[in-house]
Amino acid sequence: MNPVNHLRTGLSVAEAQRVVLALAPQLGSETVATADALGRVLAEPVVSTRTLPPADNSAMDGYALRCADLAGATRETPVALRVAFEVPAGGSSPERALAPGEAARIFTGAPIPPGADAVVRQEDAEREGALVRMRGVPRPGENVRSAGEDVRKGELVLDCGAELGPAALGLLASLGRTVVAVRQRPRVAVVSGGDELVEPDTAPFDGKIVSSNSYTLSAQCRLAGAEPIYLGIARDTPDALEDRLRAGNRADLIVSSGGVSVGDRDYVRPVLEKLGCTLVFWGVQMKPGYPIVFGRFGDTGPLVFGLPGNPVSAMVTFEQFVRPVLRKMAGHRALFRPLVRATLAHDFEKSAGRMHFVRVFLEPKPDAAGEFVARSTGTQSSGVLRSMALAHGLLILPAAKTRLAAGERGLVQVLDEGFFAAHEPGF
Ligand code: AMP
Ligand code: MG
Repeated sequence: MNPVNHLRTGLSVAEAQRVVLALAPQLGSETVATADALGRVLAEPVVSTRTLPPADNSAMDGYALRCADLAGATRETPVALRVAFEVPAGGSSPERALAPGEAARIFTGAPIPPGADAVVRQEDAEREGALVRMRGVPRPGENVRSAGEDVRKGELVLDCGAELGPAALGLLASLGRTVVAVRQRPRVAVVSGGDELVEPDTAPFDGKIVSSNSYTLSAQCRLAGAEPIYLGIARDTPDALEDRLRAGNRADLIVSSGGVSVGDRDYVRPVLEKLGCTLVFWGVQMKPGYPIVFGRFGDTGPLVFGLPGNPVSAMVTFEQFVRPVLRKMAGHRALFRPLVRATLAHDFEKSAGRMHFVRVFLEPKPDAAGEFVARSTGTQSSGVLRSMALAHGLLILPAAKTRLAAGERGLVQVLDEGFFAAHEPGF
């Protein structure tokens, strides 16, 4: 039976997203150095083998004491304690307990001696030889970091699926975890197809253009946490494409661009089928980017996305379908780009039928903290990379709509969080 008969076509963006995500497997795990695990997804629950901090310790340089000994101390009627011993940071626990009427000189991080229940900062104490005078009564526990206030032994500290940021890496280090099990990063074979394409180190001649998709798609893979493997340019012949696509068969996913439309030399679909790929759908109701093909090589082979060749179509379809799939494969729980609601600076018009993704700037709305205005970045032709390079995000114009008017609000899928960044601290 010809699998083309089962090929779905004209899917909505949401349907196509459901289909690709349903077929995306989660990858296995690997052990990496904690120092190299930034941004990775934890593949094991981390249960603490330590209590942190291991013992009650001082949060300040000062004097450890017993609050009861200072009963009645005021500014006018100070109470003096005898400084019995010193507890340095990094030293072992003090050998003896504090006796009534005694204080211990203590430093930040040093263990609280038995018997003491608070630390008075040295700035609030008056030292005079072997005595220290206090002009107030601390609360029990003041300036004491209690054992286990961070982590208790046996406690689940980080669970599977946690994304490892700087604090999580520090926590793992504190627990003595120099290596950690994380989800594998998807390896993505990137293929560019087209007779007109040259690499950027060749000056374009005779109508040739530089294969910018090789750069954009590889960079998008990296941003999605995947590892791109660039397989070069395939000429518009079945043999050349077959050769490149075969080379991608050991990857977790193949992304090609170009050659997937209805032109005479658009060979991606027939070549994928010849190689045994089951095509799942072709064509999604979106602009830019209608001609996109998605398929899979058996149950365990790589997933394949044949993206349209136009530079912005390739990028926008990557964002909607490939990125969430890569994030699912890498174990992330949040698969999609954030959305912000923005007020439109001008009218946006389109024909009904497809969902449009419009390249926009996002600017803070004057006098409305946390609200934004969306404005087109310029020509929206699917070949114009410059308006994509400027865009903070993609304004979503729903399929059924023909117009969103100035002053209305729309949803913007955020690609570049730079517009959130402040030029001044603001506090
Ligand atoms: P296609 O989808 O093969 O019909 O390609 C559509 C248009 O996209 C072509 O006319 C090229 O201008 C452009 N294009 C295709 N592949 C690339 C690429 N790798 N880099 C930049 N532009 C491309
Ligand atoms: Mg082409």
